Amino acid sequence: MVLDDLGESLRGTLDSLRGKSRIDEEDVDEVVTEIQRSLLQADVDVGLVQDLSEAIRSRSLDEEPPAGTSARDHVLRIVYEELVDLVGDSMELPLEERTIVLAGLQGSGKTTTAAKMAWWFSTKGLRPAVIQTDTFRPGAYDQAEQMAERAEVDFYGDPDGDDPVQIARDGLEATADAEVQIVDTAGRHALEDDLIEELEAIDRAVDPDDTILVLDAAIGQAASDQAEEFDRAVADGVDGVTITKLDGTAKGGGALAAVDQTDAEIAFLGTGEGVKDVERFEPSGFVSRLLG
Ligand code: GDP
Repeated sequence: MVLDDLGESLRGTLDSLRGKSRIDEEDVDEVVTEIQRSLLQADVDVGLVQDLSEAIRSRSLDEEPPAGTSARDHVLRIVYEELVDLVGDSMELPLEERTIVLAGLQGSGKTTTAAKMAWWFSTKGLRPAVIQTDTFRPGAYDQAEQMAERAEVDFYGDPDGDDPVQIARDGLEATADAEVQIVDTAGRHALEDDLIEELEAIDRAVDPDDTILVLDAAIGQAASDQAEEFDRAVADGVDGVTITKLDGTAKGGGALAAVDQTDAEIAFLGTGEGVKDVERFEPSGFVSRLLG
């Protein structure tokens, strides 16, 4: 990361340290206040922001800058390292045979994400399939089928089926030729018991390599509780998070609480309604998005 990746006001504050060789508490407080303002505006959890602030404060004052490093570069390096630590690494997704289950509330963007991820894997030379098990939301089947068609990937669903677990089992069999099988699950408006029970049953039947929680960028403070519930529902816990709708005004900082809660890593970012509007998560790019 370079200075340009940081937001304008933070850049200005750091730049004002340019001529200094030593940094004092007041300087650090100014930098920390700027970062706090940006992160809270981006919906990052207050506790996470406090931990980050403390780390930046103590490291900036306690660590001896390497010889020849200006106060500005010293603080910039620490700020960068701590921010990257806050957002975490990108979830590893080996390009080999795997089964992935997507979970999340209704409207979070699961069905769209399933097609996007399938498209992404297809660009990596793998053969993906989308398996639609959502029997709850009217129109989910048609939407998934159309998106899979647009992504030019295999698709399985049963528009007349009413047992999601059976659909998942049949889907895995029907798409056995695919190398990456992506199972889309039903959501609900809230964390209702039947949603969690359904996910538990699908998780047992599919036994996925990865479970990815799909979160709307606007999730805010609800992320932590949601993540905890979903994490508990799946045997191996949530492995990854995908943040959708980052093309809107929300910056997705709330989702970091889910990452923290589940020890997961961010896999993808959704940036539009189309099947190709998806990016692999990349820590420094996300940091600039948060602060920008
Ligand atoms: P599901 O209920 O979790 O399966 O959610 P859907 O995939 O049906 O998405 C809900 C709505 O959000 C749909 O209108 C999608 O087109 C829209 N959507 C999903 N991902 C994105 C995104 O990254 N950007 C935008 N702008 N819209 C999205």
